Amino acid sequence: MSDLDNVVSALRAAPSVAVLAHINPEGDAIGATLGAALALREAGKVTAAYNASPLPPGLVSLPGADTLLREVPIRTPYACYLVLDTSDLTRTGGLLDSRPGHGVVVNVDHHAGNTRFGKVNWVDPEASSAGEMVYRILRHGGFPLSKIVATNLYVAIQTDTGSFQYGNTTPAALRAAADLVECGAAVEQIAAGLYENHDPREWRLLSEALATLQVSGDGRLAWIEVTLAAQQRAGIGLEATEGFINYARAVRGVRIAMAFKEVSPTEVKVSLRSRELVDVARLAEAFGGGGHRNAAGCTLRVPLAEAKARILAVAPSSLIEDV
Ligand code: 5GP
Ligand code: MN
Repeated sequence: MSDLDNVVSALRAAPSVAVLAHINPEGDAIGATLGAALALREAGKVTAAYNASPLPPGLVSLPGADTLLREVPIRTPYACYLVLDTSDLTRTGGLLDSRPGHGVVVNVDHHAGNTRFGKVNWVDPEASSAGEMVYRILRHGGFPLSKIVATNLYVAIQTDTGSFQYGNTTPAALRAAADLVECGAAVEQIAAGLYENHDPREWRLLSEALATLQVSGDGRLAWIEVTLAAQQRAGIGLEATEGFINYARAVRGVRIAMAFKEVSPTEVKVSLRSRELVDVARLAEAFGGGGHRNAAGCTLRVPLAEAKARILAVAPSSLIEDV
């Protein structure tokens, strides 16, 4: 039995399934969660979708997004807890900390550093996204793939591949996406919802962030800051900053991009992006965070200037793989 077989068996056997993913979710976490929850419901199971964080604005119109529960922790007993896109249990934001009963934890993830915290674990770092893994579960298990399920899973694959631009845009990811379009994924509405759905205040905050862009002397590091003052002036918070870092990464010659986002005067969320073999997951891990080779993050409980100094002091050592 493969790990995928074991996941399918666990889901088939469970009359009730709670589906959840990591805090501060992006398109993959939410698309995979809602896609799985809707498909399991259509298969006749008692199902609910959970996330410990509010939804980013681009995802609120996804089918089923209005049913997402933000209860921390989960107090209803379920036969199965399907945890998606989550490298370790603390990343669920405490959702499972006091779960009742003996539900089977099923861990489906594509982070190489996954701690295999489930009773059943399927970890595939080659998968483009958790959404692609859910797609494979549904196809392998003969579960229904309705239009609303396909739409969510397509969003998951599209967002985690950077709209089919990053290195994880594999033939398998594209085949899954093609199949999902055949199942009715609403491609045009998805793109409009994700990328043409901005609050003007987001662009005001973006203009402030872009004004802080700095590039290292050798041109290989670029970083931006999103200060509390800028958030106050723009009238919108860090939930609006998803994607800002891509402007730093898109500077010619840049190998590592960083975004320093002020959560409070003594807490900074750091986003890291890199190209090709440059590994920012290890850089993030050195500060208690994690992620993927080319997209990672961490939180430092120090003032902004200190966070910047600490990360910039060690970031150049991550360029060693860069040949
Ligand atoms: P973002 O920069 O968009 O917040 O995060 C990029 C990726 O890095 C996420 O998809 C997630 O995998 C990972 N990540 C971000 N922050 C953390 C963190 O504090 N801890 C861990 N383990 N991973 C993180
Ligand atoms: Mn993912």
